[in-house]
Parts: sequence; C-alpha cells; structure tokens
Amino acid sequence: MIGSLFERLFGPPLPPLQEGRPGTALLRALGSGDYGLLRTAAATIALTREAALLDDLALQLPYVEAARARYTTDSQWIREHYELDFVLRKLRHWRDHDGCLCQLYPHWMHYEPGREIASGHVVLIATGVAEGGWGDTQDTTCTVCGRGWRCTDREYHAPWWEWSALPQP
Ligand SMILES: [Zn+2]
Repeated sequence: MIGSLFERLFGPPLPPLQEGRPGTALLRALGSGDYGLLRTAAATIALTREAALLDDLALQLPYVEAARARYTTDSQWIREHYELDFVLRKLRHWRDHDGCLCQLYPHWMHYEPGREIASGHVVLIATGVAEGGWGDTQDTTCTVCGRGWRCTDREYHAPWWEWSALPQP
C-alpha cells in the first residue's frame, strides 16, 4: 500500500486540516515535507502579530506538533527542527498569554532589527560595536512593553541576529 510505504519513509500521517481557516495554507506548508515551503511558512508565523491568525494557528497546535513529530532525531533534520520548534514556541507563548511577543526575539535567529524597527515593533535608541569588534549592535526598546533589547549582527554562512535583554533602567 502506498500509504504504509509513505509512513515508513516519513512518519505517521498528519491529522486532517480544516479548510478555509486563516492558518490553513501555512499549516499545510509546515506539514509539506518541503523545506523551502516550511521555512517560508515558519518565517511568516515568526513575523506576524496578527491576532486572528495567531489565534487560529494556536488552536491547531496539535497539527504542528504532529508535523514536528514526523522528523526523527537524525541531525539531517536540524533546519526543520529549528523552524518547527520555534513555531511551537511562539504558538504556545501566544496560547498561554505568556507576555509580550518581543520575548521571542532571542529564540529565532532571523529577527532582523531593521525589519522590526520598520514594522514599528521596536525603536532604535543607540548603535555600537559588539565586544571584541565582532559585529555591530543596535539597542532598541519594545514599543509594546518597553523592554530594552541589544541586537548584535552575526554571520555564520549567512547573517543572523542575536538578541539579548538590556538591563532594566
Ligand atoms: Zn515587548
């Protein structure tokens, strides 16, 4: 049977998706097994602050958990694990009303400060150079909760950004 062959290759089937909901296309991409689609959907979820979309995705957390569970612990899936683990973290944070979304910055390496500033999520308060000269820093303040964040440019094959909380004034 084709079904059982597929399951041997790629884990148990995903739960059925409800069509026509705000998160349906994103969830389908997360469960597609295609890393390009998965990564794009994960980035959309990481960047959005749209409550209706996040509410819908959070309701369908079991689907994301099942999509994550299809990947074995094999290190060949490290990129899929990283993106899906972050999606799970954000949706649980949203579901549990765990506080301002800026608290997720340290947990996803693609939060680009320029984009967060342009989106109005943070404002720039100072720029500098990281300790030892390893990258530029941008100090920002969250426009929602007032937390301070230092964002440092990093590079490893591709640019990424490290966010750390500034001491409370
Ligand atoms: Zn905040």
